[in-house]
Amino acid sequence: MGRKKSIIKIPKNVFLKCPHCSKRNKAIVDIESCPQKFVCPKCNKEVNTPIAQCCVICAFSNKRCPRSLYMEARVKGLELR
Ligand SMILES: [Zn+2]
Ligand SMILES: [Zn+2]
Repeated sequence: MGRKKSIIKIPKNVFLKCPHCSKRNKAIVDIESCPQKFVCPKCNKEVNTPIAQCCVICAFSNKRCPRSLYMEARVKGLELR
């Protein structure tokens, strides 16, 4: 029985939801992205990665950062695109 190789897709951009004003801010993701903070353009507050979270992409968007996906792909032997 052939096992289908799972594919993990790296997002091109994400929406970071500001925890202060709930605005969703579009952010471009590059292959090495693991940003530790962003500044919300609406309320101008700086948002930092919460303790025990990987980065603001993992914490404040519904996607995960490329670095985190890359680690998972390596551990599970998945294909990354
Ligand atoms: Zn905000
Ligand atoms: Zn992350």
